Amino acid sequence: MNGVPAGWHRGGCHCGDVKFEVRAAADLDLLECNCSMCSRGAYLHLIVPAEDFRLIVGADALTDYRFGTGTARHLFCRRCGVKSFYVPRSHPDGYSVNARCLDPAGIASMRVRPFDGRNWEAARAALDTA
Ligand SMILES: [Zn+2]
Repeated sequence: MNGVPAGWHRGGCHCGDVKFEVRAAADLDLLECNCSMCSRGAYLHLIVPAEDFRLIVGADALTDYRFGTGTARHLFCRRCGVKSFYVPRSHPDGYSVNARCLDPAGIASMRVRPFDGRNWEAARAALDTA
């Protein structure tokens, strides 16, 4: 955070069937997770509370995939296959948006921190003390 006010960023999948807005600063604070799922998709996490996310279109365009504990809801566009946002295991009451799927016009900078998803419990506990 360096004083840039929070605003609504637009984002979505590749084909346009899924569109959303997310409220965050222009300087994004992101997590890059090394787990089997996130590393395959090169996902960059912008984690927000539920009230800072609104789906504009695409509720019917999404299909979900679950594995492991089944807590996370990995949401993919049925048409283009892009996971532009999902419900993460670390914050099941909020959302994780893929910063790579945001309109770059509203982004001033990105700070990316590693998240050791291969050692999930310890990494999740460390988030609360960071
Ligand atoms: Zn799509």
